[in-house]
Amino acid sequence: MMTADFIRIHDVIDPDAATYGARGVRLARMAALGLPVPRGLLLARSFCDKIARDGAAAHFATELDDILAGLGDEVLLSLRAAPEKGEWGGPEALLNIGITNERLPALIERVGEAGAYTLYFRLIEGYGAAVEGLDPDDFETLVADQVKYHAVKSEGDLPLEAHKTLVEEALALYADEAGDPFPQSQREQLIHAMDALVRSWNGVSARILRQSYGAPEDAGLALIVQRMALGVGQGVCGAGLAHMVDERSGAPGLSGRFLPQAQGYDALMGLRTPHLITAAARESARQSGLSLEELLPDAPRALEAHYATISHGLGDAYGVEFTVENGALWVLDAVLSPRSARATVRIATDLVRIGAITREQALLRVEPRALIENLHRQIDPSAPRDVCGHGLPASPGAATGRVTFSPEEAIQLDAQGEAAILVRIETSPEDIRGMHSASGVLTVRGGMTSHAAVIARGLGLPCVVGAGDLRLDQKARAIVTQDGRSFSEGAIITVDGTRGEVLAGAPDMIAPELDGAFELLMSWADQVREIGVRANADTPQDARVARGFAVDGIGLCRTEHMFFHEDRINTMREMILADTVGDRRSALDRLLPMQRDDFVELFSIMRGLPVTIRLLDPPLHEFLPHGRDEMHDLAEAMDVPVTTIIERAKSLSEFNPMLGKRGVRLGITMPEIYDMQARAIFEAAAIVNTRNLEQVEPEIMIPLVSAAREVDVVKARVDEIAAQVMAEREVRLTYRLGIMVETPRAALRARDLAEGSHFFSFGTNDLTQMTYGLSRDDAGRFMRDYVNQGVFAEDPFHSLDVEGVGELLLIAARRGRQINPDLMLGLCGEHGGDPNSIHFCKLAGFDYVSCSPYRAPIARLAAAQATL
Ligand code: PEP
Ligand code: MG
Repeated sequence: MMTADFIRIHDVIDPDAATYGARGVRLARMAALGLPVPRGLLLARSFCDKIARDGAAAHFATELDDILAGLGDEVLLSLRAAPEKGEWGGPEALLNIGITNERLPALIERVGEAGAYTLYFRLIEGYGAAVEGLDPDDFETLVADQVKYHAVKSEGDLPLEAHKTLVEEALALYADEAGDPFPQSQREQLIHAMDALVRSWNGVSARILRQSYGAPEDAGLALIVQRMALGVGQGVCGAGLAHMVDERSGAPGLSGRFLPQAQGYDALMGLRTPHLITAAARESARQSGLSLEELLPDAPRALEAHYATISHGLGDAYGVEFTVENGALWVLDAVLSPRSARATVRIATDLVRIGAITREQALLRVEPRALIENLHRQIDPSAPRDVCGHGLPASPGAATGRVTFSPEEAIQLDAQGEAAILVRIETSPEDIRGMHSASGVLTVRGGMTSHAAVIARGLGLPCVVGAGDLRLDQKARAIVTQDGRSFSEGAIITVDGTRGEVLAGAPDMIAPELDGAFELLMSWADQVREIGVRANADTPQDARVARGFAVDGIGLCRTEHMFFHEDRINTMREMILADTVGDRRSALDRLLPMQRDDFVELFSIMRGLPVTIRLLDPPLHEFLPHGRDEMHDLAEAMDVPVTTIIERAKSLSEFNPMLGKRGVRLGITMPEIYDMQARAIFEAAAIVNTRNLEQVEPEIMIPLVSAAREVDVVKARVDEIAAQVMAEREVRLTYRLGIMVETPRAALRARDLAEGSHFFSFGTNDLTQMTYGLSRDDAGRFMRDYVNQGVFAEDPFHSLDVEGVGELLLIAARRGRQINPDLMLGLCGEHGGDPNSIHFCKLAGFDYVSCSPYRAPIARLAAAQATL
């Protein structure tokens, strides 16, 4: 009769890690899968608790003796710790339990004299340390003395007599120090070893250590006793570890190491250089020692077969820890294959292909942010990093290039085929062209939703903002670091937008790759997810990228961004600075065809998918001319003296532009602007609808609303313009009008606002700014300190503050839908690309999130995970 306290590895039916430890479960499962796992038994956690209480001898029942006897005559045993989770650590294993003076001749017969004496010596040393607390250094001194005496290089070169002497000396040392002779029965050795491992597990330092790895206070231990597969002896013997997937790509590929005449995985970490597994690997590494394949031709095939069985049975990619005993391969354990973030995608889809896991499991296996490695160039994790500045990780990916301080230089360098890193205090619309030409962007100021950050994310350009520990020395045209290093114009630096770091020089990079596995996983995500993923796309170019990432539509087209381009920005500025309605109309007349053409292109690219166009929302400070040259240019274009421009710019400048005449406030006070935009949208829709089969139903969005009356005023004019265009063009157009909820008041007054709205789109950038009273453009200056000191768990401009801003979202959603149950709910702030925020939106019953195109894959996967 078997008790639950201990059970044969090959008899366990449904093991669980809390009882038998993670390793115990793996071994039992592998044994059940028919793999060559050495026989042995699992000692349950409950049994180890008894050992801790009464000592192992009190519970070493006859049954246990019988099982051990059943393992065979003269077998040596290993004793291993098996905590519930491998990462909790635990005491070291004791190998070769059972060598005694009496059994030595038989062992010599099996493994030869040198081998047998070495194993005996190592047992006395390991056992002495674990059971009696002897100092291993004393045993190592014995070895060192012998090496010196025989004038050889290392222990492996000692003559046989030295090995014999070492055993004699070790036995004497043990007896002296422990006060008793070394135990001469396997049973006794095993009992004391069990006591020692359990005692060590319950020691104070072990407890503290494992708690630092996340173990609970009452974490228990299970033990594993197994027949030793001797990696030393006659024929081909040794220990090894083989991995079957490439760590970087996740593609199949056998690699690993094998150490002849060695025991246990630890041997691979030792002094001798392990051999490789395949002959091909040895040739390409130009290694001299024969590979395992050359010693044992069938081994690679056997390892691959074991890998397939393990992966299938255990549902993941595992490397195989093995021992070869006289040509026979034994599986000692399975260890999760190490993998890069990118490799997780390939591994997950391959596991589905072989039927080891379901698609849903695969979707949950991949951390959405890991897709960054598929989408953007990254610094090789193994490359040395010379970090010289820190900021916020505003846009992922890494880029190396020459330091440039002006957009013009970036354009010039790009034309010469050179990569440029555009370095600015902060960026403004004049920098956009330079940003297009640059390989990366670095700003000293700014936060996660500042101009540089938003634009760079839209362009998929690596970007670090708010690098406050760097100083721009404008005079010397150099960046100066805190420790006084200086990087002048033309110096090579790297921005790591994934980590928010600036590095000196050019570290090795890993190229992005959208392979078949990525596409496959994305298609599964789309089948599962219940929340839409749209893109924030401002230009036709953005829309094309967004379509490439299979989004469900455009959730935010920031129309002011359509005028950032050099050839348009002056017309936009003329419109903003116009003194009279007549002048403004004249500028608007010139803007109308540009807008219309852009919308025609956007609608055509999106082919009937929803497109949400936001009416103009220009924070004026982003559009006013800054330098003298720009003022002159504009004066020329407007045919007015430069002093007039300076005066008007001054009169428009605001103390707090982000809370100034922005959004709908501009629409109310200068209604002709929104009139022009509405006309451009409806004319474009009319053009596209007569041309294309897929009909457009534009969604028009009013920004920065805080009162229902604002919506009524704008709505009345938009409706009127729609009627005009329909009459002029003799077409029928349908459209939806909605608002951005980005002021706390809009959230609170959601009932009033829902009445005239088809949809709410939450602008969580501004809503976060206004809820915290925290400038989105300046937060970067102290956000790192706030997060590092744990004041904020995360930058709320990056991951939605679900407690505060989130509550406003919930209030607005509930109140809005009370009035208008069909109210469509979306989120288009930068949080739309953040997995945790997406999770929140799904739970809150939102219809979609919208994020920059390059983040759409991350959002699609996060949306799927939120559904599962
Ligand atoms: C927002 O405020 O969340 C938003 C999307 O608008 P913008 O970033 O353009 O202010
Ligand atoms: Mg906003």
